[in-house]
Amino acid sequence: MADRPIVSVERCETYDEGVVEAALESVLAPLGGIRAFVHPGDRVFVKANLLMKAEPDRAISTHPAVIRAVVRAAKAAGAADIAMGDSPGGRTSAAAARALFETSGLARVAHEEDVRLVLLDDGVVRVPNPEARLYSAFNLGREAVECDVLIDVPRLKTHGFMMFTGAVKNLFGCIPGLEKAQFHLKVPDRADFAEMLIDLLLACRPGLCVMDAVVGMEGEGPSGGTPRHIGALLASADACHLDVVASSIAGFDPMAVYTVAAANGRGMCPASADDVETVGAAWRDVAPVAFAHPARDLSRAFPPAAARWLRRRISSRPVLARAEECTACGTCERNCPAQAVKVSEGRPQFDYDACIRCYCCQELCPANALDLKTPWIVRSLVMRGGSDRA
Ligand code: SF4
Ligand code: SF4
Repeated sequence: MADRPIVSVERCETYDEGVVEAALESVLAPLGGIRAFVHPGDRVFVKANLLMKAEPDRAISTHPAVIRAVVRAAKAAGAADIAMGDSPGGRTSAAAARALFETSGLARVAHEEDVRLVLLDDGVVRVPNPEARLYSAFNLGREAVECDVLIDVPRLKTHGFMMFTGAVKNLFGCIPGLEKAQFHLKVPDRADFAEMLIDLLLACRPGLCVMDAVVGMEGEGPSGGTPRHIGALLASADACHLDVVASSIAGFDPMAVYTVAAANGRGMCPASADDVETVGAAWRDVAPVAFAHPARDLSRAFPPAAARWLRRRISSRPVLARAEECTACGTCERNCPAQAVKVSEGRPQFDYDACIRCYCCQELCPANALDLKTPWIVRSLVMRGGSDRA
């Protein structure tokens, strides 16, 4: 393994199993190959992104072909035990977990590769975090932290709250079930939430990160956006450096991504992909033109008290955009940490004074019935298009 963080980028145009396996081998080669990370006898946990029950082509979850390639690589390196999984948003019953695993394609991978598939809500341990800034301990899924090697396998997506979700944000799924929603209540400010995520990174310490950027998500990610072909795999031993490069591929100024800004503030990564050592394909050649972004949080430019007041007025708010799709399932109500949404008369009703703009409801709506609506004053003030899109 390299002494200082390197981010490796490799073209991978399709999810054809052979193509993905070859691309994974190529993207890991400059980092020393999988054997630099997984040793004979190791217990490996592969942390997928399984936000919600969704088919792989919706680009919400990590594609099963990428997970399969990572599992096969770990096996080839001699891992003694391999498990994979996640804790999706909200409360997940055993039946819901089974449905999620089936729909995501991971149940099939687990069966065919003979590896364990784990809901991280089942078995939680308290993990001390001496290097933390905000949270000196976390409750985390046991399998993700008691392994020898945690392999973090996110999909490249935009994110309404953090702007971008990559290797750092993917670790939020190591926190079990509804505790995730409680963090939105405890840490409603986006910059503070990102600091919490960097604390979480320090608690989890993934040994290897492999990003699925074959098809990413643009627009209103992480679940309500549009799949967008990028055609790449990225890998690094360092989640923060990986996110600097991946968010640049997605057209962001990395410092506009809250997790990158928090990591940069702690000296954990540079502010620009130009200052990251990259190997393989040039990230600028991989970057798609005009990747659509979620709305920016303009209140960030103001002092905290004013920002809180402004956030309620200028931040995007969740709205029922496709009423005909709403099944009145109550997922939004059950997962709202601020109890700011109630389903009555067959549709969600929002209390925008109570709403903390965490967007859990929009992320987790299984019918994609919700959108984030930006106030007209913000839309008219902010340029749109490419990396400046509001
Ligand atoms: S908006 Fe979505 S999550 Fe809320 S009740 Fe309707 S379908 Fe369910
Ligand atoms: S209504 Fe939606 S965005 Fe507002 S606090 Fe609840 S879950 Fe978060």
